[in-house]
Amino acid sequence: MREEEFETAIKVVVVGNGAVGKSSMIQRYCKGIFTKDYKKTIGVDFLERQIDSPGPKRNNVQQSAQACVLAFSTVDRESFEAVESWKKKVEDEVGEIGMVIVQNKIDLIDDAVVEPSLIILICLEINILQKEAENLAKRLRLRFYRTSVKDNLNVEEVFRYLSEKYLEQI
Ligand code: GDP
Repeated sequence: MREEEFETAIKVVVVGNGAVGKSSMIQRYCKGIFTKDYKKTIGVDFLERQIDSPGPKRNNVQQSAQACVLAFSTVDRESFEAVESWKKKVEDEVGEIGMVIVQNKIDLIDDAVVEPSLIILICLEINILQKEAENLAKRLRLRFYRTSVKDNLNVEEVFRYLSEKYLEQI
């Protein structure tokens, strides 16, 4: 017999410093659009999208976040350095939930290298930042994604992974 599909809602919180791309990521995932309008979000943004899941129907009204994106920007080292404190803030609020670390704006790497005199320095910094992010993800035992919300790169993958992880737990 075919297993029936039910819709379950998952509430994902996207946290990180201002301007790393939280609102843009949510818009991209929920509405499929990207805009250059800049309206900085301080700290936290939420999204809720239906996901299909096999199994018994559950209460759709969820009080708090069930998964979390810890976001930082390729061109903002400070935003990377804040990732661990964002993780702690979320855990203090809602306890342990599925999380990922996301390095956004990786398309800017291509833009950066058009200025020849800066190529070496910028590439070095970007490489170092990426290595550090990989090490942090390893230490915190979290998955690490590199995204470009602008180019729609890896955004679906981030939320698919969080949804799957969540569905395994319920
Ligand atoms: P928030 O403050 O973290 O919610 O950041 P926003 O979503 O408002 O994004 C800040 C700025 O970065 C906006 O101008 C966005 O268009 C831009 N932005 C977001 N994601 C990307 C990306 O992947 N690549 C580039 N180049 N710009 C992005």
